[in-house]
Amino acid sequence: MSSNQSRPNLLFIMSDDHAAHAISAYGSRINQTPNLDRIAANGMRFDSAFCTNSICAPSRAAILTGTYNHINGVTTLDTHLDNTLWTFPKALADAGYRTAMIGKWHLGHGPHHDPAGFHHWRILPGQGHYHNPVMLEAEGRIVERGGYVTDLITDDCIDFLDATSDDEPFALFCHHKAPHRTWEPSREHFTMYDDVDIPEPDTFRDDLVGRADVVQAVKMRMMDLDPITDLKATVPEGLSLDEEISWRYQRYIKDYLRVVASIDDNVGRLLDYLDAKGLTDNTIVVYTSDQGFFLGDHGWFDKRLMYEESLSMPLLIQYPNGVAAGSVCDDIVVNVDFGPTFLDLAGVAIPDEVQGRSFAPLLAGKKPDDWPTSMYYRYWMHRDGSHLCPAHYGVRTQTHKLICYYNDPLDQPGANGPADPVEWELFDLVADPLEIDNVIDDPAYAEVRTELEAELARLQAQVGDEPFAPDSGANPTTR
Ligand code: CA
Repeated sequence: MSSNQSRPNLLFIMSDDHAAHAISAYGSRINQTPNLDRIAANGMRFDSAFCTNSICAPSRAAILTGTYNHINGVTTLDTHLDNTLWTFPKALADAGYRTAMIGKWHLGHGPHHDPAGFHHWRILPGQGHYHNPVMLEAEGRIVERGGYVTDLITDDCIDFLDATSDDEPFALFCHHKAPHRTWEPSREHFTMYDDVDIPEPDTFRDDLVGRADVVQAVKMRMMDLDPITDLKATVPEGLSLDEEISWRYQRYIKDYLRVVASIDDNVGRLLDYLDAKGLTDNTIVVYTSDQGFFLGDHGWFDKRLMYEESLSMPLLIQYPNGVAAGSVCDDIVVNVDFGPTFLDLAGVAIPDEVQGRSFAPLLAGKKPDDWPTSMYYRYWMHRDGSHLCPAHYGVRTQTHKLICYYNDPLDQPGANGPADPVEWELFDLVADPLEIDNVIDDPAYAEVRTELEAELARLQAQVGDEPFAPDSGANPTTR
């Protein structure tokens, strides 16, 4: 270890759909994650880290480019990242870092969408498979792998580290497929939790009364899970509806947590590797997920909505040379801030086109006076696919959340839409952290609503986005 001691290494571990409330460092009531907890104990836990669009590919694009989805073009699952765009891994490579992308990419394939800016990459095609996955490399090479995907991605990361010279810093992107649907555990975790009941969340029986009509119509409830592909079982006969909902939750959450257990084991392998090689002190280790997930909260699975469980990203960062062990940050950071932060820590210039802001000062325990106290969110895919989740945008402050569901919420254009094409929700996150009580029409919140509407408009203009205009003819799903 010589020249790279002045520049930190980066090990960026990102899973897919891992909610913070399934990490014991975040106070999980349903599982233990001792290795993820090591990162929290050795570094900083972020309690207000949010995605700017709670869906896989768009969040990944926002992280890589440091820009919001209307700027980077990846507004939906069907849009792919233009790989000529600036990304922060490219900037690290240009600055002399050895870079690699291993695991889930999910931003398209082929000459215009393959990973760019990486000296080495090996990715899953599309969503990839849990068992015996094929993987893709440069020039269309296909690699057939035997084993479990989370283990294999970690094996490949260790191989990359073994082959990396001591003279150059590395930036390694370890992107797990897990714990994305369809939640298939490894052999080692197949029977984990067999003998226990996992507690149901407080809002599991939420009747959604008072929430937007279009939210009540979302198809993300336990009864919307497919028994065969999601639950791998036949529903027992003779159950009441309530009993079946509980049975489905147990099937769902246990597989989800088994898949998470494998991530935790494999994060432990990487941390042990860094320890054994003497790399821990000068390596920034990040653990995050592309968004959160509903773990039976409000009766749902999946993500997409701006509610806390989906909006929140787990974010744990250890860097012994620069971050105090066991620290906690409750200031708002968003996924577009990630890239500029790592460039800042690496001493690499941040281009003006990047919309995110480095939170390196927060990592150092020095909050700037003008640090943002609100964040902007937009989900674009209006009632697409099987989830029927509405397009919406909103603002979250440290105390409140305002959400606007637009575009004839319950019907596609041309159908018999409701009288009001727009629905709103307002939550007081201090009085109502579980987001049960929509106070949008409560006179006591009239002033708060006015302030939040103004803040939403301000943020929308600041990031260069535009409010939905019903008479414009623009299709908000794909614009
Ligand atoms: Ca995801």
